[in-house]
Amino acid sequence: MRMTATGTEFSGAPPSAHTGRATPGPYDAVPTPRGPSWWEFAACRTADADLFCVPDGVPLRRKRERERRAKAICATCPVRARCLDEALARDEQFGVWGGKDARERRELRRRLAS
Ligand code: SF4
Repeated sequence: MRMTATGTEFSGAPPSAHTGRATPGPYDAVPTPRGPSWWEFAACRTADADLFCVPDGVPLRRKRERERRAKAICATCPVRARCLDEALARDEQFGVWGGKDARERRELRRRLAS
């Protein structure tokens, strides 16, 4: 359990839809001693991972469209705040997390630091 930049706690692994890691599996739940991990409730668990982490080589206009679609999913997500906190705590450089793309998170990080 860790405290995050915006003051909430989180535990467990991030949604692997963002990381592309083989372990845990893309949508596998990782139980924790305290109960289910927050990301088991993630709205993106069944979404196309390429919306949230657009592969290199996708033209900018198409990338922005995919990010817009990802943010629309985030807008419905019950764990959005925790997701954003985790991305800020990990200084995540890529993808849409908590409804914000990398540029928006950099701006938010700057505001939180000032
Ligand atoms: S806020 Fe968005 S990226 Fe984060 S878990 Fe929810 S749907 Fe996924």
